[in-house]
Amino acid sequence: MSGENQKFATRCIHAGQSPDPTTGAIMTPIYQTSTYVQTSPGEFIENYDYSRSANPTRTALEANVASLEGGRHGIAFASGVASLAACIHLLKSGDHVLLCDDVYGGTFRMFNNVFAQLGIEFSRVDMTDLDATRAAMTDKTKLVWLETPTNPTLKIVDIEAVAQIAHDGGALCVADNTFASPYLQNPLALGADIVSHSCTKYLGGHSDLVGGILVTADADLADKLHYVQNAVGAVPAPMDCFLLLRSTKTLHVRMERHCENAERIAEWLTGRKGINKVIYPGLDNHPQHKIATRQMRGFGGMITMTLDGGLPASRRFLESLQVFSLAESLGGVESLVEHPAIMTHASVDADKRAALGIDDGLVRLSCGIEDADDLIADIEQALDAANAV
Ligand SMILES: *Cc1c(COP(=O)(O)O)cnc(C)c1O
Repeated sequence: MSGENQKFATRCIHAGQSPDPTTGAIMTPIYQTSTYVQTSPGEFIENYDYSRSANPTRTALEANVASLEGGRHGIAFASGVASLAACIHLLKSGDHVLLCDDVYGGTFRMFNNVFAQLGIEFSRVDMTDLDATRAAMTDKTKLVWLETPTNPTLKIVDIEAVAQIAHDGGALCVADNTFASPYLQNPLALGADIVSHSCTKYLGGHSDLVGGILVTADADLADKLHYVQNAVGAVPAPMDCFLLLRSTKTLHVRMERHCENAERIAEWLTGRKGINKVIYPGLDNHPQHKIATRQMRGFGGMITMTLDGGLPASRRFLESLQVFSLAESLGGVESLVEHPAIMTHASVDADKRAALGIDDGLVRLSCGIEDADDLIADIEQALDAANAV
């Protein structure tokens, strides 16, 4: 196990892991086992009794990501939305949850179509407006769920201010840190009670697994979440935990390049013919650029832009890209592009999409870690194709 005083890059590689005591294997083994031998009824060799409750590969992953987020306890799940569901299982019927308005589509769907039926109430508010956020709190609000940067419009929510509003109202604050990753932003240090990740994105980083994790510094909350993890049972497989441990070893190096590439591309796109608007938290003209500078160490790999010419132009642009792949998801080493109105946000009502600024010309880029020159050349030829008609 590694020390709390070590720097981020060292913790990426070492936190939660030590050579296997039986063989010296430097990498944490994939403990592909469902159960563990007991020496006498109820007496375990290492506190492991059954792999839904705990598994050593998972334990290493949980300690690793907990360290990267500056928390004490990691609780891993089979997907990002399973992590979310575990937080909601802390609540009871009649409780109210306040969500940011452009929350991840799957998060909204879970509240709207699954938990609402169980009597968990929710409402949405633009959390870049702190007065509106304060006003949206009710005496039943038990959880405030924020995301920053948001998806796909990359709004930046002031984590410290929103956590304070939650706490003033006696609610917990959960921050979905998927878009930033722990390398760029640590919500616990800014007052959030729980950090949530879809490991499918930057933590995994290679588009080869689906996973989720929660991190908290609060032992009591951790006990409750561990209880839900075991009782509800959406646990990740040992193989996926192993792949994630392998991924987090390069998180710091990958994130540096994601940010570098996105910064260059965002600047290159600004003012280009055929492009109406470029949204990137690192640009001076981003409405919350100052907050981003304060609470993030870099501005991330995601860029959203609007093409002149609406759907026909964006369709031609997306069909013409060759290095960027047209696909949902984000955060992998390879560059991806998607069309929110047709793809990730199709389930959001058209008028709600319009209110959020998700129009038919809007395109979301997940800048990978290829050579930035090649990415820019690819965008240039696709823009030419889009503008040619
Ligand atoms: C992808 C994503 C999720 C859901 O995670 P899954 O791993 O797909 O279940 C939650 N929040 C955000 C911000 C995401 O991008």
